[in-house]
Amino acid sequence: MSKKLTKRAEDYSKWYNELVVKADLAENSAVRGCMVIKPYGYAIWEKMQAELDRMFKETGHQNAYFPLFVPKSLFEAEEKNAEGFAKECAVVTHYRLQNDPDNPGKLRVDPEAKLEEELVVRPTSEAIIWNTYKGWIQSYRDLPLLINQWANVVRWEMRTRLFLRTAEFLWQEGHTAHATEAEAITEAELMNNVYSNFAENFMAIPVIKGLKTESERFAGAVETYCIEALMQDGKALQAGTSHFLGQNFAKAFDVKFTSKEGKQDHVWATSWGVSTRLMGALIMTHSDDHGLVLPPNLAPNQVVIVPIYKTDEQFDEVSEVANTIMSDLRARNISVKYDNRTTFRPGAKFAQHELQGVPLRIAIGPKDLENGTVELARRDTLTKEVVALDALAEVVEGLMTTIQNDLYKKASDFRAEHTTKVDTFEEFKDVLEKTGGFILAHWDGTNETEDKIKEITKATIRCIPEDSVEESGVCVFSGKPSNRRVLFAKAY
Ligand code: AMP
Repeated sequence: MSKKLTKRAEDYSKWYNELVVKADLAENSAVRGCMVIKPYGYAIWEKMQAELDRMFKETGHQNAYFPLFVPKSLFEAEEKNAEGFAKECAVVTHYRLQNDPDNPGKLRVDPEAKLEEELVVRPTSEAIIWNTYKGWIQSYRDLPLLINQWANVVRWEMRTRLFLRTAEFLWQEGHTAHATEAEAITEAELMNNVYSNFAENFMAIPVIKGLKTESERFAGAVETYCIEALMQDGKALQAGTSHFLGQNFAKAFDVKFTSKEGKQDHVWATSWGVSTRLMGALIMTHSDDHGLVLPPNLAPNQVVIVPIYKTDEQFDEVSEVANTIMSDLRARNISVKYDNRTTFRPGAKFAQHELQGVPLRIAIGPKDLENGTVELARRDTLTKEVVALDALAEVVEGLMTTIQNDLYKKASDFRAEHTTKVDTFEEFKDVLEKTGGFILAHWDGTNETEDKIKEITKATIRCIPEDSVEESGVCVFSGKPSNRRVLFAKAY
């Protein structure tokens, strides 16, 4: 296999980029800012999708699909949304190429094939979806409308990083319509809770739920709920957002319904999304200097079996035991792969599975056959133990839960150690410089102060935490009164 990874302490960003490529998760492509997600990376994304999709359906949502292109006139309809995304939109202007008469062998845009109306490649789908909802919603009986779409979107980001920020990314976007304001707010909160449950129980990532400040809010939203996670380098990552859109889109697209009482009113909306950025969160929360560390709940293979043998006869004997182990584990719903490739030596296989974060590795050799044992290695702790074959399935099953919980606990402990309450701006800057992490500080509630703090320190308000308690204090920057602490950090 390839050379060793750069260590996190040496260069965290280099470590991340190398890990993504060496663990075979994704790579840069011929298109600036767009990535190729490789089969192993895609398998992890598919596991995320499957769990989220189940959770969306359990909360009453259905999947549908809307077009990739948004006619410019529709895109413009909700002004704030259009303004917010305008700077990063890819736009289709022509629909045909032709041979270039001046450059033999080259193609050029056919000037005759100019679109009558330009098409925006969706950076988010509110416009096209709300234009469609207009035809779907007439009466209170049509509500609530609870739709999700799995799709790709394009935002012409200038500084891109594999998974964390790409120009094209995969995501899901929920778009719901409701009869009342209260119901829409409940929905936006519910979906933020779905995201936090998913992050904590499947990704083993502790998150802070809260509300964005006005300057960080989604363009066109009345409120943006979010989940914020802390990475091992002390920087925060916005892992998911859920927006209460008020009646902004319903008004822009004239989506009205007749209530039970026969009154006409605009409907209330939400939208919510998580993207392939979650892959970045997963990698940066748990992985180490040896490579990826995956929580069992999202590992494409929870267990890998590596045979150790010299002769064909030994290989057959080991394979027989491996097959029995596989059926025992599969009977317990544990995914297992038998790495019986004859083209790689065991050492190379160990290195690959370590780099790719397979939670448990079982090695079986001739000695084990004699003793009725196997060697069991944990990826998260890098510890090994010898386990009797007849106890193996039960031990493995127990370890699936143990590893999942241990990873969550490790990440929670890290976050606790890297969350600091500060009361002065000196302390604020000092903490940011020395340890980074989350900072809980008083803020006077103004955009100006938020901007100034950002300008000086690069830290932003990640959210106003949902569980923040009322506490009187003074803003760390302006000294003006404040009644609760907000969460600051430098962020991805
Ligand atoms: P938004 O529609 O801006 O609220 O974003 C929805 C989700 O997509 C959030 O979880 C964002 O963190 C994520 N996201 C936004 N921009 C990008 C990007 N360029 N690449 C990957 N994920 C993104």
